[in-house]
Amino acid sequence: MSWRISICLKTPLTKLTLIFNGVSMTTNIEDIKKYEELSRLIEPEAERRQELLEEVNQYTEGFLETIHAKNAYIKEGPDGLDIRDAVIEEQGVDMEVILKLYKDNVEQQGINTVSGKFFGYIAPCSMFYSALGDYIAAITDPFSVDYAASPGAVHMEKMLLDWMADLVGYPAGVQGNLASGGSLATLICIVTARESHGLKARDFDKAVVYVTELTHHCLKKGLHVAGMGESVIRHVPVDDAYRMKADALAECIENDRQQGLRPWLVVGSAGTTDLGNVDPLDAIADVAAEQNIWFHVDGAYGGFFLLSDLVKDKFKGVERSDSVVMNPHKTLYTPFGLGAAIIKNGELLYKAHYYTASYLQDNYLEQDELSPADLGPELTRHFRALRLWLPLKLIGVAPFRAALSEKILLTRYAYEKMATQDGFEMGPYPELSTFAFRYLPAEGDIDEFNKRIIDELRKDGRIFLSSTVLDGKYMIRVNVLSYRTHLETIDLAIEVLNENIQKLV
Ligand SMILES: *Cc1c(COP(=O)(O)O)cnc(C)c1O
Repeated sequence: MSWRISICLKTPLTKLTLIFNGVSMTTNIEDIKKYEELSRLIEPEAERRQELLEEVNQYTEGFLETIHAKNAYIKEGPDGLDIRDAVIEEQGVDMEVILKLYKDNVEQQGINTVSGKFFGYIAPCSMFYSALGDYIAAITDPFSVDYAASPGAVHMEKMLLDWMADLVGYPAGVQGNLASGGSLATLICIVTARESHGLKARDFDKAVVYVTELTHHCLKKGLHVAGMGESVIRHVPVDDAYRMKADALAECIENDRQQGLRPWLVVGSAGTTDLGNVDPLDAIADVAAEQNIWFHVDGAYGGFFLLSDLVKDKFKGVERSDSVVMNPHKTLYTPFGLGAAIIKNGELLYKAHYYTASYLQDNYLEQDELSPADLGPELTRHFRALRLWLPLKLIGVAPFRAALSEKILLTRYAYEKMATQDGFEMGPYPELSTFAFRYLPAEGDIDEFNKRIIDELRKDGRIFLSSTVLDGKYMIRVNVLSYRTHLETIDLAIEVLNENIQKLV
């Protein structure tokens, strides 16, 4: 191998030539300058930044100022198709054009989750304060997965995870991960549980997982993604309020052991998606301890209700679990993209996820803290902690406690108001902020009638309710969670519901 550099000795320097294995490579300084001019467009100057911020701010303020008047479901025009047609080109377009495309095609299409009149699925609602956190995170972009690269960012994440672990009642020694959501956080817990039980591929078709019919589907999906799709999933019987029967769990486990199977994981829901009901966590913990199986709690929806004195007793026993998932992007009002996995014995999380590579060998610090990269599947990722940390620091925890307690009471109020009205068959009394009901028409098919109620509500658009199936019956669900939902919103929602039912009877 040989190389030789020849430099054109004119001043200023215009050209560099390098002969590499007999081939001449030339770099013209002019070419560099030409590219530089265009590439500098990536960085706007201060004045331009102000202009752009003002334009964006005008748009977002317009959105926020009219949010209370907007429908919870919006269907206008051809399903956002203009975005597909507005292809990416060499030259950019004005911000005005971009914001209009966004408004017409994204903002004004589909479910409006940030409306206080949105009661579908789990009804989250992102906070303005989180947007500020995201803005700062995007501008400063710390490499938050690596302690040596960004120690403060990692401390922020760990502090938040410790705060959540404390809320759950875990002792010191936990580790966790701020993942993109509940499904990914659940996957992290499944992999940790799998590794800590020493399960290998040859064991998977004998490994048994215990859930109920109401356990979130991300558990089964997570098992599948973790390579354990062949494992046995046992649906443990539930009581009248759809909560797992702990004695039935013990029986199932005994039976499975007798058949030579390997019970290894039980999932308790701290707030199911369908009904918001909380499994008897303390009793499940007894069985899990006795049977030496991993106890995972799915608090993706309900976990942060631990902040409310009105319901925190329902979670007794959560502190005895091995792992828990909680979604700040549901019950703490961050934008979508934040779900926490917390593992009581943090070392197990590390053992299940640690990997390294030669290009990660540089260490700038006396390392005394595990990095998020060693505690989950991701490497480079969004600095998610700031969207939660900034709001919690800025306004404190008290408003969140109040918002969640308010939602509990509003849910009870809505349930009671509907229960006293003729025609409604109510599901179980709400434990958190969710309940289900159906309308019993004087004649005709009940399921069909309730589907038509949902169809009418979509056409109306003012409120949004979703549906589910319980014991084979089509049921309409109400989830009250938005910090924009207050007493008058509930009264309006029941009025709109009744109006739409009247159209059908
Ligand atoms: C939403 C939810 C999940 C899944 O969380 P994502 O953030 O949507 O992935 C898991 N469990 C329960 C109970 C949920 O409500």
